[in-house]
Amino acid sequence: MKVATRFSHSIPKLVCPDGEDGLLISTKFLNKILRVDQENMTMTVQSGVTLKQLISEAAKAGLVLPYTPYWWGLTIGGLIGTGAHGSTLWGLGSSVHDYIVQLLIITAAEAVNNYAKVRTLENGNPELNAARVSLGVLGVVSQVTLKLQPVFKRSITLSERNDSNLGDEAATFGRQHEFADFTWYPSQRKVVYRIDDRVPANTPGNGLNDFLGFRATSSLVLAILRTSEEIQESTNDAGGKCSSAKLTTSTLKFGAYGFSNNGFAFTGYPVVGFHNRVQASGTCLDSLEDARITACPWDSRVKGLFFHQTTFSISLSKIKGFIEDVQRLVALEPRALCVLDLYNGILMSKDPMSPRLFEDFLEEVEQLAFFKYGALPHWGKNRNVAFIGAINKYKNADKFLKVKQSYDQLGLFSSEWTDQILGLKDGLIIVKEGCALEGLCICSEDIHCAPKNGFFCRPGKIYKDARVCTHLSSR
Ligand SMILES: Cc1cc2nc3c(=O)[nH]c(=O)nc-3n(C[C@H](O)[C@H](O)[C@H](O)COP(=O)(O)OP(=O)(O)OC[C@H]3O[C@@H](n4cnc5c(N)ncnc54)[C@H](O)[C@@H]3O)c2cc1C
Repeated sequence: MKVATRFSHSIPKLVCPDGEDGLLISTKFLNKILRVDQENMTMTVQSGVTLKQLISEAAKAGLVLPYTPYWWGLTIGGLIGTGAHGSTLWGLGSSVHDYIVQLLIITAAEAVNNYAKVRTLENGNPELNAARVSLGVLGVVSQVTLKLQPVFKRSITLSERNDSNLGDEAATFGRQHEFADFTWYPSQRKVVYRIDDRVPANTPGNGLNDFLGFRATSSLVLAILRTSEEIQESTNDAGGKCSSAKLTTSTLKFGAYGFSNNGFAFTGYPVVGFHNRVQASGTCLDSLEDARITACPWDSRVKGLFFHQTTFSISLSKIKGFIEDVQRLVALEPRALCVLDLYNGILMSKDPMSPRLFEDFLEEVEQLAFFKYGALPHWGKNRNVAFIGAINKYKNADKFLKVKQSYDQLGLFSSEWTDQILGLKDGLIIVKEGCALEGLCICSEDIHCAPKNGFFCRPGKIYKDARVCTHLSSR
């Protein structure tokens, strides 16, 4: 049994019940804003309310949620369930679940209790900490109360620099600006820093963020992009892939990433605007029902972009080492990581047995992050490899599992896969032919790669403990 949302935007199998006869409980109609308390600056919503709805309804009351994901096509239940976040090192933190003050969760119960128990968890109740990021395994979150702030303005400047000092700057930059983030294009040796702070409400500007990557895009253009990438992959056209990556990043840059200073035109940085207009976007959600002539770029109903995201957090004390290791990899083969510049993701092959271009480099970055630097996975993204031992990285994991045991003794909301990622069952790693290519295993034998295509299991180039599928004849 699983809770399903109208979007199901998580990448891993979190939302899949076991087998063919599982049950899905939809939150599609749990879509009401229940209360806006202006005095206490809180808002109570049902869990199927979307981030977009929350932002616009809160703004009508002069309130905002300070840190949220950048894409607003997510439900509150889904995004807190996976620990989704925006970007800040300030305040309580960057995750939406940090701002929950009350949550209602419905768990299974015996027949005498009509099979359901409603629990109201308030701030201060240790069980609320388990329910904040429940991964959907505790029960159904039906409503959430969030602490908001009075609406404020921000001033945003995106500034491109080379990445030679990124190792040092990464740790300090986030402390200097409240909404700091940076997008790193390692193969181009460039970083786009987002210098982003609150400014007084009377600062002129009515900026808008309509991120280019979240706009309705022509299905024809998407199909051309996808086909050309598939051709570059199948012909080992590393140069072509890097040219496409440069075209993508320069299109973003010259389109000011979708920012405008007044809702229409971009006249230059800084873009000053109200928080509710600049934090998140996603106009492709509202694109016309135009027989899918346009779509969100990743819409699986059209031949659109097809990628998975390896997404993690590394503690600030270790980030320099990680960045420098990736820079060393790029120095060995500058074209290896162009795919990251292309769409902050990694191409998924339709044929799981066919390796990706620079498979070895991509696997090494993944293993560097999760095993050398102890990164924590984003629960709504990643491949199985990222979840190996993940639960042991959380000091309160046992407390979470105790709450799970008491809320759902029969494991009704668990699947084999959620038990595996929580360390309750073996089998997360699936060892079979080609398993490393799909992120189902770390290779230990050549057969886990694609020896017929020239890919063999070898140590990493920088991180010698890594085991990655390496193409031997061409390099
Ligand atoms: C284009 C795009 C941009 C993104 N940007 C960001 C970003 O900026 N930052 C970030 O952190 N993440 C980002 N994500 C990832 C996203 O936040 C997560 O994948 C999120 O979990 C998806 O929310 P959803 O509503 O689609 O939930 P789903 O994927 O449908 O569900 C996620 C999990 O929560 C459970 N669940 C859902 N509702 C409930 C409920 N009411 N009660 C109990 N369990 C429930 C489900 O069973 C499932 O296990 C992005 C994803 C996409 C596709």
